[in-house]
Amino acid sequence: MTDRYRAASCQGPYGGENGFDDCGDPVRFEVARHLREPLRVCPVHLGPSLLLAEGVLWPPRITLVR
Ligand SMILES: [Zn+2]
Repeated sequence: MTDRYRAASCQGPYGGENGFDDCGDPVRFEVARHLREPLRVCPVHLGPSLLLAEGVLWPPRITLVR
């Protein structure tokens, strides 16, 4: 595994950039973002993160991580 997958807990609907605590659930999806690290989220936060996180591509590019 590369460093990209080292953080294996959900970054929450805001990508951990808005001062909210990370969710901490296991990561299932990776959302591609413009000029940012991909956003790694759990199933619960996949939908919200597409709408709320900064830099999410549209239409969304989602990768199933595991
Ligand atoms: Zn989550």
